[in-house]
Amino acid sequence: MSTNPPDLRPDLAPRARLGDVPRPGQPTIGMVSLGCPKALVDSERILTRLRAEGYGISPDYAGADAVIVNTCGFLDSAKAESLEAIGEALKENGRVIVTGCLGAEPDYITGAHPKVLAVTGPHQYEQVLDAVHTAVPPDPDPFIDLLPAAGIRLTPRHFSYLKISEGCNHKCKFCIIPDMRGRLVSRPANAVLREAEKLVDNGVRELLVISQDTSAYGLDLRHGTSLWKDADVRAHITDLTRELGRLGAWVRLHYVYPYPHVRDLIPLMADPENGVLPYLDIPFQHAHPDVLKRMARPAAAAKTLDEIAAWRAACPDITLRSTFIVGYPGETESEFQTLLDWLDEAQLDRVGCFKYENVAGARSNALPDHVPEEVKQDRWDRFMEKSQAISEAKLAAKVGRTLQVIVDEVDEDAATCRTWADAPEIDGNLFIDEGFESLKAGDVVTVTVDEAGEYDLWGRLA
Ligand code: SF4
Repeated sequence: MSTNPPDLRPDLAPRARLGDVPRPGQPTIGMVSLGCPKALVDSERILTRLRAEGYGISPDYAGADAVIVNTCGFLDSAKAESLEAIGEALKENGRVIVTGCLGAEPDYITGAHPKVLAVTGPHQYEQVLDAVHTAVPPDPDPFIDLLPAAGIRLTPRHFSYLKISEGCNHKCKFCIIPDMRGRLVSRPANAVLREAEKLVDNGVRELLVISQDTSAYGLDLRHGTSLWKDADVRAHITDLTRELGRLGAWVRLHYVYPYPHVRDLIPLMADPENGVLPYLDIPFQHAHPDVLKRMARPAAAAKTLDEIAAWRAACPDITLRSTFIVGYPGETESEFQTLLDWLDEAQLDRVGCFKYENVAGARSNALPDHVPEEVKQDRWDRFMEKSQAISEAKLAAKVGRTLQVIVDEVDEDAATCRTWADAPEIDGNLFIDEGFESLKAGDVVTVTVDEAGEYDLWGRLA
């Protein structure tokens, strides 16, 4: 379970920097990537293209001819962090190109930092590349600058994010993503599958499927088919997931909204022959129907407890992760209590919780009856206390079980692994501290769980 410290918040994810060794004289670019996993995918794509064009990638400011800052603009605090990162890059390097979500507000950036070379918005790959070409002309060397087949990833080699669509057709009142990223645009199923296969061929053992609204995948394409290995595959999350699960890697679904057709994904998760993990990251945000209505959530009317019971009946081992907002404008004590009672029944495995915060441009700012800070804090504390107790009990129940884990890292003390119930960066770990020496990152091994803590497990090779 995450208590959402700043470095784990999806809107304030850790900065990623990519290391590489440029050849002498090679035009070289640095990259600072802020924001959520979706922004990380953008950074990866930009770097892949630059590398393909013969640029070197510098791990530090000093070695770079220019620096790209991929920004986040989801919350005001994330915007401030983005401005700070731009300021730091200007101070340390001086030649800075800004892209990403905050790039949708160029005046905001140039107002604070008039010296930036260019500002481009989210997913404007071509414009970013144009800005780089202008600032630092390319000097390709076809004998050296061969693009690695699966591109360059900022995430470790054995897992990779896989973005299946962009944008969102909903209008949740606390969210400005649809204004920044536009309406849903899905990639054809065969384009996603081709990329996924390439990643798996290059050693990726776990695919993390992301988008703003994963269950809505393909709506904009009217779920039209595309040709993949002699068969037509529909641009529909069920069909896409089934095919992804056949590629030989773990497949983990993030940001799945609780639409009724999510039920169709559960048999895939229960099928041991398919790589789709029994794991659903499903942002419920609240449980009281009136709060959900005030949020204008797409699934306001869904009977979520019944749905959860049906998923568990079909796949008893399913892990459910969710995020919630407490202290939303107008939230009464009794509405909050409904959320706590719901949590008691839902028994979610992993929960993140945000205290409501105004975001410039969000419609929720204008709602009446904003909740005082100390009440938000009190509700957050009570919510986390309950969800932590649930998570702890769920982890304790795993002691003695034999589970498959993927190895993330090995050092002299232990192998840090994850079970299929743990997504990288947001969930817990399983540590093996004896007989782990021959393991390496990306291995999938079977362990017996010996011990459980508040968030993590310890085990030994079975
Ligand atoms: S579903 Fe709601 S919260 Fe999610 S991106 Fe769309 S508008 Fe924002």
